[in-house]
Amino acid sequence: MKNKEELKKTLTPEQYQVLVEKGTEAPFSGEYDSVFDPGTYTCRACGAELFDSTTKFDAHCGWPSFYDAKSGAVEFHEDDSLGMSRTEVTCVNCGGHLGHVFEGEGRDTPTDQRYCINSVSLKFNKK
Ligand SMILES: [Zn+2]
Repeated sequence: MKNKEELKKTLTPEQYQVLVEKGTEAPFSGEYDSVFDPGTYTCRACGAELFDSTTKFDAHCGWPSFYDAKSGAVEFHEDDSLGMSRTEVTCVNCGGHLGHVFEGEGRDTPTDQRYCINSVSLKFNKK
């Protein structure tokens, strides 16, 4: 994780709460939930490329959903908080919290994975 004091200056309080303190934005509140334009999603904290719009799909879950991340861009951590067994997804470059990944839900995607990512952790760069 980059210097937290530095991030506090560059991120909004909501972005800081999610990226640094591993919070979750309210469902259906994020600015990218229903964006499907072509482009690239980068990390809001450090600018690293994380997801491509070609892997984004509408999971109707209230958060931007992707079926794959860019190769080597994210890291996975077991997360047993809130009494659930989940897999946390973070940015490799800065360690910022992005969201969680779920598998085997029977989604009609090439990987049957759902990266459930907070909009505030991302920045969309339209092609
Ligand atoms: Zn990052």
